[in-house]
Amino acid sequence: MELVRMTAAELSAALSAGEVSAAEVTRAHLDRIAATDDRIHAFLHVAADAALAQAAEVDGKRATGEPLGPLAGVPVAVKDVFTTAGMPTTCGSRILDGWHPPYDATITSRLKQAGAVILGKTNMDEFAMGSSTENSAFGPSRNPWDLSKVPGGSSGGSAAAVAAYQAPLAIGTDTGGSIRQPAAVCGIVGTKPTYGGSSRYGVVAFASSLDTPGPLARTVLDAALLHEAMSGHDPMDSTSIDAPVPPVVAAARQADVSGMRIGVVAELSGEGYQPGVLTRFAEAVDVLASLGAKVTEVSCPHFRYALPAYYLIAPSECSSNLARFDAMRYGLRAGDDGTRDAEQVMALTREQGFGAEVKRRIILGTYALSSGYYDAYYGKAQQVRTLIIRDFEAAFAQADVLVSPATPTTAFGIGERADDPMAMYLADLCTIPSDLAGNAAISVPCGLAPDDGLPAGLQVMAPALADDRLYRVAAAAEAALTERWGQPLLGHARGLDA
Ligand code: GLN
Repeated sequence: MELVRMTAAELSAALSAGEVSAAEVTRAHLDRIAATDDRIHAFLHVAADAALAQAAEVDGKRATGEPLGPLAGVPVAVKDVFTTAGMPTTCGSRILDGWHPPYDATITSRLKQAGAVILGKTNMDEFAMGSSTENSAFGPSRNPWDLSKVPGGSSGGSAAAVAAYQAPLAIGTDTGGSIRQPAAVCGIVGTKPTYGGSSRYGVVAFASSLDTPGPLARTVLDAALLHEAMSGHDPMDSTSIDAPVPPVVAAARQADVSGMRIGVVAELSGEGYQPGVLTRFAEAVDVLASLGAKVTEVSCPHFRYALPAYYLIAPSECSSNLARFDAMRYGLRAGDDGTRDAEQVMALTREQGFGAEVKRRIILGTYALSSGYYDAYYGKAQQVRTLIIRDFEAAFAQADVLVSPATPTTAFGIGERADDPMAMYLADLCTIPSDLAGNAAISVPCGLAPDDGLPAGLQVMAPALADDRLYRVAAAAEAALTERWGQPLLGHARGLDA
């Protein structure tokens, strides 16, 4: 089989059997990027030399019989929000253009230690604010299924790279849906682990109480392999959970839902949802029931307030986090010609360095946190957050996992929602509740929507630290749906190779 079509698990097996070298695998993916990325624009930076050097190192270790982990020699694409020593990190922003971080994020170094080969840095909405990559200062990425559509966001470059066979694996971050939503609209798997289950050290902060790094892959097992390699306690992140990583790889292999209680969230469907998405979601639920799961309906009445609460909490935290871009410490410094004082240079730099959406959020968040409004806005939103956590607790008393569509619609057109922030925000309607509650959730492909032929995602949500349940359910659904559709869903990808 063509190397770029192989899954991470298949590549890993071929590498350890000596059928292929890490150098060959890496070169095949670099060639694929070179041949396709003028159309996809998944990458902001391709680290060809560093990747080949890493691959050579893995091949050398293998030759001497050193024990290697499952990801040794497997390529991975890294969202440009993770710091990477020796490579730029821009977060899709002009304000960090040209910044080379002096250190690796914990997850970057874990990937390197695991022998995963870092191909480069992927495009994203500026500072992870958006659902389409159109907020990237460096231009949007495109959806490999249809080049006129967005790949979702904010981890849209990572999702597009995996869907376009440029990389078998990628990492992203999910603050309101930024892993699951692009995964869903690109027809791949994406997981938001339990908050605190994956380290935020070296992940440029957007909204610190929500930001959660996680894996993207073409299969559930591959996502589990990456999830396991990147996760676990990190003393450098004060919110990191000091507990073992849930057994996600074993769960993906188990792929068994018999006797499992699955709750369909009543509030996450109906009006405003694309009929074709609902059709595929209903079929996926039927498939899970046919595999022996006990399906019931559950109600989470406060989920309807999740989006407004998120758009107070996330901007509030972002307004504080992004204060560090002061023209002195990182990246861009505008107008420092000796005629301006530090405050004027800072103002000019932020004016020139930040895009419109980032400015909108900073203004919104500063307002929500200001004295006199704090209780009415930020305080109220935190109370709503508690109600959402209680809704989850009540639902998880009745069900082991909850399910919903991952997104209300399939991929939308480039430009279609760019001037309508509210329409853009609605893309995360289904994903935001799990971010606010800090629990775990996954999106797994559930077929092509019959109304437009584009991928739809099934979202599975589990209680905090029960990430393994996601993989049990997602792997069972993946196996049954692959059988139903006759082939892995990505085999249908058009637009690129047609
Ligand atoms: N689209 C949402 C936002 O713009 C979520 C982004 C994310 O998860 N990083 O805030």
